[in-house]
Amino acid sequence: MRCEICGKSIGARPLRTKIDGSVMEVCEDCSKFGKIQKTPPKPKRILKKTLKQKNKKTKQRRRDEPTEELIEDYNSIIRKKREDKGWSREVLGNKINEKVSVINRLESGKMVPDIKLAKKLENILKITLIEKLDDIDLESFQKSSSNGPTLGDIVKIKKK
Ligand SMILES: [Zn+2]
Repeated sequence: MRCEICGKSIGARPLRTKIDGSVMEVCEDCSKFGKIQKTPPKPKRILKKTLKQKNKKTKQRRRDEPTEELIEDYNSIIRKKREDKGWSREVLGNKINEKVSVINRLESGKMVPDIKLAKKLENILKITLIEKLDDIDLESFQKSSSNGPTLGDIVKIKKK
């Protein structure tokens, strides 16, 4: 490595120095002609920080809506119930304080309502759009554990 100004050999660690608007790799003597550039902060640290923030966000979100999930055929249920009641999309939109375009997109499945909107629809249409996931999980867990090997079975296997 040689100094870009005087050509002196400067080994492996030149000083990055801004001289006349351009950054050059120079020796210690020539660095006095310009402003030494600090090495940019390592991106590793920034990455870590954003990652942490992301985790925090996810956790908070989970705490807010821990067990609730929208059912898959929400759009057909909304449409069916609205038609049962003889309401137009405009009427439903007015009742839940949303634009007709929102109702259009909901019923065509192009828009997934958030929990707040889903609850409004549940109340006004007397339907269930949100499932409690924990109940299902618990049920399947209980089923699988009762079908699983008992302690007696395990002892038998071990004896073989
Ligand atoms: Zn130099």
